[in-house]
Amino acid sequence: MKEVLVPFEDHRFGCAMCGECCCSRNIPLTLEDIKRISKYKDPKDFVVIFGERKLVLDRREWDSGCVFLRDGKCTIQEDKPLVCRLFPICVSDYPLTEEEGRKIELEDGTSAFVYVDTSCKGVGRGKSVDLNDIRRKALILRNEVFVTDLEGLIGWYLDYEEPEEKEEG
Ligand code: SF4
Ligand code: SF4
Repeated sequence: MKEVLVPFEDHRFGCAMCGECCCSRNIPLTLEDIKRISKYKDPKDFVVIFGERKLVLDRREWDSGCVFLRDGKCTIQEDKPLVCRLFPICVSDYPLTEEEGRKIELEDGTSAFVYVDTSCKGVGRGKSVDLNDIRRKALILRNEVFVTDLEGLIGWYLDYEEPEEKEEG
């Protein structure tokens, strides 16, 4: 699935449950994402350092799928990374393509550019995407990204206690 970003224009979205977005992309993680998800797995089993310092979700070798994808479904739905919660919406502090994304104002008075990834089969189905929800998540994402770095992860991990293994079924 190759990303096709276009400026957001009140698109509709209803997930078609194809699972493709969980098998084809590097998902950036914030430190808060990692803390939330660490109740399911030890971070060393799902965090990968990408490039020099970026933290992303690990993917399986056999299908490039996210390590939390099972039978086409996300197994950490309630705590999935912010980037997954926003998808197929992508927000950025700067334009991501030659075409400027839709510029929106966030609650703190700053602005962000909003795109929709039209390679997602769910775009055009379902309900209109709520712009206020995008605003809210975009601000949380920016604040969490701002305080995410490798040193912070290591510092937190030193006190981390592995979750007890849950019995299946
Ligand atoms: S968000 Fe889009 S790509 Fe991902 S599973 Fe739903 S329809 Fe498929
Ligand atoms: S965390 Fe869930 S939604 Fe995000 S890529 Fe993994 S399986 Fe998909």
